[in-house]
Amino acid sequence: MDLQNSALSSALSTEATRQHLSITEGPVAAALEAQPELPEVQPASEVERRNFFDLSYADLQLVLKGLGKERFRAGQVYQWVYQKRVEDFAEMTNLAKDFRAELPERFEFRRPRVMQELKSVDGTRKWLHDVGDGLSVETVLIPSKDRLTLCVSSEVGCNMACRFCYTGKQKMKRRLSAGDIVAQFLIAHDSLKRDGLRVSNIVFMGMGEPLDNPEAVFKSIEILTDPNGIGLSKKKITVSTSGIVPKIPLVTQAGVRLAVSLNAPNDAIRDQVMPVNKRWNIKELLDACVQHARESGDRVTLEYVLLKGVTDRIEQARELYELTRRVPCKINIIAFNEHPGSGFLRPDDEQVSRFQAELIRLGAHVLLRKTMGRDIFAACGQLTSMYQGRPETMPLNG
Ligand code: SAH
Ligand code: SF4
Repeated sequence: MDLQNSALSSALSTEATRQHLSITEGPVAAALEAQPELPEVQPASEVERRNFFDLSYADLQLVLKGLGKERFRAGQVYQWVYQKRVEDFAEMTNLAKDFRAELPERFEFRRPRVMQELKSVDGTRKWLHDVGDGLSVETVLIPSKDRLTLCVSSEVGCNMACRFCYTGKQKMKRRLSAGDIVAQFLIAHDSLKRDGLRVSNIVFMGMGEPLDNPEAVFKSIEILTDPNGIGLSKKKITVSTSGIVPKIPLVTQAGVRLAVSLNAPNDAIRDQVMPVNKRWNIKELLDACVQHARESGDRVTLEYVLLKGVTDRIEQARELYELTRRVPCKINIIAFNEHPGSGFLRPDDEQVSRFQAELIRLGAHVLLRKTMGRDIFAACGQLTSMYQGRPETMPLNG
């Protein structure tokens, strides 16, 4: 475990991140260059008081050890916060009074302010969070027959500039902290609890590219899966990437599931719709998927957005099948969710069914992902950090 953690932290070093993100051409490079070194936003108070939600169990143990406390105290505090959902140290009655008084000097519970909570007619919910400095992110809850999946954001905006994605239109303005990600879960968890419900799965498919913010993403996963706290199963967590290939082994090491946004049947089209493909092409990406599947024993989810006339033709279903048959995977196809100014159109339902049927005929494991939450603009690829001029005002077409 320690070995694994140290490998993880060295792979996560800033230098490694910088190297892996050294995209040298195209809009992604331009976007990265425009914001070469984003300053870490650290309020002065954080120097003395850390955000409790940023601390893994091991971090908390270390801090408390430094304060001369017994080892088991970390477990007690973690249980109060994550299992009993108490965020006032004074109420943690099995701790000594002076310890309770000491804790608020070191830690605070900082979480984004909920600006809006919306419920769709189909059961989808969406939260809009104010993460400070006029920035906001969205979290979406997607219900299905047997699960409640929470789709969390990892960044405000996204530098990967995929042409069909609403978030990709906005440059990345902030990498969220681990605490910001944990708080997205807790806010949904507390809200659902009032209705007698529980989040069953988490997908990193909200705003942002999780592997462009690996330090916070994997720390949040460590926190959410810790048995002293929430204790979510790692197999219920999926990290989705547009294809930052050198970071994919981090997903394997973290023991969570991998989804990859493939979205095109060949490099020529993928270069056009996903600039990251110019840095790491489909072969490199699928090699990394095969490696993940081999080491984890788990199938990779390949996501494929159907863009009318661009990626939805029947011969492209065959091309997709040939391309991916060497990868232990299931293919999730999803019809493009339209947004103004994208230049792409949503294929009609018949074409979507034909595409799916062709993949099934060939023997692929394929699922059609239903578009949900359209009435509250919570659908995939429609999330935005621009509270002003939000897509609530967009025409509903397609
Ligand atoms: N950045 C990560 C995770 C967030 S995007 C990634 O790209 O994988 C989540 C998913 O939404 C991706 O699979 C992406 O291809 C898909 N998506 C983006 N815009 C979309 C749109 N307008 N319609 C349908 N799916 C979209
Ligand atoms: Fe970023 Fe994912 Fe959107 Fe691409 S699809 S721009 S990686 S959020």
